[in-house]
Amino acid sequence: MTTYFSYPAPSLQDELRKIAEAIVAPGKGILAADESTATIGKRFVDIGVENTEENRRLYRQLLFTTDEVLGQNISGVILFHETLYQKADDGVPFVDHLKQRGIIPGIKVDKGVVPLFGSEDECTTQGLDDLAQRCAQYKKDGCHFAKWRCVLKIKRNTPSYQAIMENANVLARYASICQANRIVPIVEPEVLPDGEHDLDRAQKVTETVLAAVYKALNDHHVYLEGTLLKPNMVTAGQSCTTKYTAEDIAAATVTALNRTVPAAVAGIVFLSGGQSEEEASVNLDAINKFKGKKPWPLSFSYGRALQASVLRAWSGKADNVKAAQDELIKRAQANGNAALGKYEAGSVTGKAADVGLFIKDHNY
Ligand code: 13P
Repeated sequence: MTTYFSYPAPSLQDELRKIAEAIVAPGKGILAADESTATIGKRFVDIGVENTEENRRLYRQLLFTTDEVLGQNISGVILFHETLYQKADDGVPFVDHLKQRGIIPGIKVDKGVVPLFGSEDECTTQGLDDLAQRCAQYKKDGCHFAKWRCVLKIKRNTPSYQAIMENANVLARYASICQANRIVPIVEPEVLPDGEHDLDRAQKVTETVLAAVYKALNDHHVYLEGTLLKPNMVTAGQSCTTKYTAEDIAAATVTALNRTVPAAVAGIVFLSGGQSEEEASVNLDAINKFKGKKPWPLSFSYGRALQASVLRAWSGKADNVKAAQDELIKRAQANGNAALGKYEAGSVTGKAADVGLFIKDHNY
């Protein structure tokens, strides 16, 4: 085993660490608005909006031209390739609208999941081949961080050794390529909530997956202070009959993270994974209130749990834009408070605050 290697030059380390730390500044988190064309189409079906490029532009314009107060709780936005190059009605590129609000643009760089041959319906994530060139271009075009989502599934025989090792390794390759191109990688090994498993099983799987991910990141000489982790919270399977409190979820989540995530990691930004908007705020709050070691900022990088009420309030109508933007501000504030352990359950209501957002075998 070779132990001769170099970390990035000090100037690159500084750049990466500063970006990562800015994203997890106190009371701030990420809006994940990087739904692929197919995925945003599914969200639009629910509100009766046709999935055209213009409607996608109008919807993302709504998000990114929200009042500047949004920047108090949203530090970064993850974009999809198409969105990065779109402009608002005023001709100003979306990235500039984000920068005006003090929000750092980020970009989804994976190219989706593909099956692992011979496995029990497991998958890996593709997109490494031209990643270095794409990262270099995205950096020039204003993106300072990236996301790559891997997916692991809990069933009787899974996740398998094959899936755990393959996904850990591909995340590590992705992370090292991002850092070489001055982009902070968000490392996302999502353990899906599908299944009947209890909280204990979810915790053990999450620990095993994260331990493999951090071994691979070390093997690939990734500079941890310039990375963010985007994990699932540890929750029981969607079909589990035992019900757990937010405090149970917080204890299982923080324990799993303490056992596996080095303290050097700049921050942890949870995905919402099908929780309702309110559950995602309450659980994040409980995680931050949990008494125990927490050596990293614990914040959010929510997709569904920041957009469900916005989408419903908008419903594709220009007259509703302001009302939809108000929903976004409210939910961002709720999550900003939760990231500080200062959210009062039920204090923020919304058009879809309590609607379950679980999607079977979720794709992004
Ligand atoms: P959800 O918050 O909807 O789970 O999605 C976040 C995300 O970016 C998944 O990759």
